[in-house]
Amino acid sequence: MEQIQINKAAALKPLPDPAKLVFGKVFTDHMFLMNYDAGKGWHSPRIEPYAALSLEPSCMVFHYAQEVFEGMKAYRDPEGGVRLFRPMDNVQRLNQSCERLCIPQLPEDLALEGIKTLVRMEERWVPSAEGTSLYVRPFVIATDASLGVHASHSYLFCVICCPVGAYYKEGLQPVKIYVEDEDVRAVRGGTGFTKCGGNYAASIRAGERAEEKGFSQVLWLDGVERKYIEEVGAMNVLFKIDGKVVTPKLNGSILPGITRRSCLDLLRDWGYVVEERLVTAQELFEAAEAGKLEEAWGSGTAAVISPIGVLAWEDRRVTINGGRIGDLSQKLYDTLTGIQWGREADPYGWSVKL
Ligand SMILES: *Cc1c(COP(=O)(O)O)cnc(C)c1O
Repeated sequence: MEQIQINKAAALKPLPDPAKLVFGKVFTDHMFLMNYDAGKGWHSPRIEPYAALSLEPSCMVFHYAQEVFEGMKAYRDPEGGVRLFRPMDNVQRLNQSCERLCIPQLPEDLALEGIKTLVRMEERWVPSAEGTSLYVRPFVIATDASLGVHASHSYLFCVICCPVGAYYKEGLQPVKIYVEDEDVRAVRGGTGFTKCGGNYAASIRAGERAEEKGFSQVLWLDGVERKYIEEVGAMNVLFKIDGKVVTPKLNGSILPGITRRSCLDLLRDWGYVVEERLVTAQELFEAAEAGKLEEAWGSGTAAVISPIGVLAWEDRRVTINGGRIGDLSQKLYDTLTGIQWGREADPYGWSVKL
């Protein structure tokens, strides 16, 4: 493995007030970088002071969005140590995204080592208050200075970090969700299963409209028939219907969430019947109207579990579990956060101590 060169910042920044952490605004002292050039492969892994990048206006990423990213967190455990949650899963998913976007495969061990080395260096930035963490954002951009529509010949892999406050300040608040029947996020054959900026660009309008109507996020339907449920905002979605757990199967337009997979593993271990299959909005609303939709929640790194209290679709509107968080959603939240923050036994080996 190529040695990671380290160039430390001359002066370190003051830490932000831990009570006022806002997601994605303040960045740590350093970043990890690695370049790719055709004929040379990935090279020059290094840690440098966090700083602006210098790129030509013709840089490919600005025009054709040849870009992928990841999102993960570092957690402060009760012993004062720092942990990551299934970090190799993020690196492998980044490579799956790269494959779809024609970006050369990253050496996974080196990418993971870069992330770990950076987080170790930024240790003092990992907050310790309840629910807080250090968000880690790896990404790859195409850097050829060229307007031709082809795969770039050069890329930059970069990892930046920002401390984040607790997602929930007063317990898990169920959210109101609107079934989006106009815009679609992704289609099969497209890039829905990857974490690429383009998917987000396509989803912003629906999210903004939902907020204007008083909802937190949208429930996405499939792009072909606008019939099957796919995801909720930028989270996977799971339902408890008549005692069973049902979630849309990974069909190519759904992002394979690591939190989703962890939920399914836990649920199967707890003896639940788990179905990964097509779920129509019609089935969901019929179940709700018959009193069988017991719980609904989103899953993702940011919120871990986000209970859904109200679902609206055209002129139909249903309240789930009286608008309160369900027992199973709460148990999943408690177990996952217990493992992530190192408070609970981890029989799965998901929590990686640095
Ligand atoms: C990141 C993401 C998720 C959640 O994935 P996790 O690995 O659980 O954080 C779900 N849907 C979309 C569209 C995403 O970008």
